[in-house]
Amino acid sequence: MIFENTRNFAQSLDAQDELRSYRDEFIFPQVNGKQVIYFTGNSLGLQPKRTKSYIDEVMADWANLAVEGHFYADKPWWDYHERFAVPLSDIVGAKPTEVTVMNTLTVNLHLLMVSFYRPTLKKFKIICEEKAFPSDQYMFQSQIDFQSKSVGFDPKEALVEIKRREGEHNIRLEDVLAKIDEVGEELALVLIGGVNYYTGQVFDMKTITEAGHKYGAYVGWDLAHAAGNIKLQLNDWKVDFAAWCSYKYMNSGPGNASGCFVHEMHHNDSDLPRFAGWWGHNKERRFKMEPKFDPVRGAEGWQISNLPILSLAPYLASVEMFAEVGMDKLIAKRDVLTSYLEFILQEIDKELESAEFEIITPSNPDERACQLSVYLHGQGRELFDRLMKNGVITDWREPNVIRLAPAPFYCSFEDMYEFGQILKQAILNK
Ligand SMILES: *Cc1c(COP(=O)(O)O)cnc(C)c1O
Repeated sequence: MIFENTRNFAQSLDAQDELRSYRDEFIFPQVNGKQVIYFTGNSLGLQPKRTKSYIDEVMADWANLAVEGHFYADKPWWDYHERFAVPLSDIVGAKPTEVTVMNTLTVNLHLLMVSFYRPTLKKFKIICEEKAFPSDQYMFQSQIDFQSKSVGFDPKEALVEIKRREGEHNIRLEDVLAKIDEVGEELALVLIGGVNYYTGQVFDMKTITEAGHKYGAYVGWDLAHAAGNIKLQLNDWKVDFAAWCSYKYMNSGPGNASGCFVHEMHHNDSDLPRFAGWWGHNKERRFKMEPKFDPVRGAEGWQISNLPILSLAPYLASVEMFAEVGMDKLIAKRDVLTSYLEFILQEIDKELESAEFEIITPSNPDERACQLSVYLHGQGRELFDRLMKNGVITDWREPNVIRLAPAPFYCSFEDMYEFGQILKQAILNK
């Protein structure tokens, strides 16, 4: 498509946008009495208007039924989480038995590492990406320290990071595969962010998963920036396990419940160690309060506690919206919207004749999704602050990168045009 940097052109794309009515389904903050341009759906998605009614329903059931709500609420609480299995499995390309919701993301990754990071003296290494999200780094360090004490391997040798090449912003697939070959039989686990949070790079999860399996390693993915953003086929790709948060692209609200995936090939493996609790126990017998743990054969077998229904309610509102629209339509819009934003940035840079910014996200559409990370030359945090004052909410990362994620559910093409104009003025008036 030949793009134009004009309001008319942006409006014509909005007029053709099948998802345009969904913009009205979300609540936008206001700055100076105007709805903001929101680029941080990769950090905290906007609140859908329908969410409140899902929470109100639980509040009303609690008021009217109290403990009886567990079984007699319209949506009973004891199996409330089962309502997620079908819509979430569509979002991540899984079978319904392979997904569940529980806890929060880092907690779930820790729990899954209990099952899938089982180091021995000879096979104890973990491959991850350089500069992984900090929570993941702390998780790796603490899991390695914890396990090395009983197994006896050298904790300093256990974590192997895949580096970017000198002068490059993204990690090459060939370098991931070479690292897997290099670590070889010592490899116990590959665990990488499916979409890099900093650059927006999308990894080839299928190929990397296959490569890890060649050496008998488990392969898991942190899908914080992938769930609700990219096409996932976790079952087909034979991913061992994955987890994601729901408050980024999935709009479920701050700090809200996580989703997790365990491939069906592991469902009947009763040797897999796990940290258990009563909500993972055989459903028919859960309330018989028996002493011996008998896990549900499926991702639900990793459940521990009864679920925080008030936190699941907004997540349910969200997955129902995803089910209405479907990932394919979201992805189709996402691609045009992201390319239009890229075009706008390039046009503004040309008009300013200044090479002010460099997009560090891969330009190859197969290697990126919703996010463009822009490295600012000669601009600092003041630019971010000026954008904020003018009603553009972006995300600032040290040293000088702004991340822009035009979420297809609620961002418009006109937002992209308008952003370009505000950006240009912000740079000219500095
Ligand atoms: C957002 C994000 C997290 C957040 O973890 P929580 O446990 O939900 O606080 C973890 N990992 C990655 C890659 C993220 O992008």
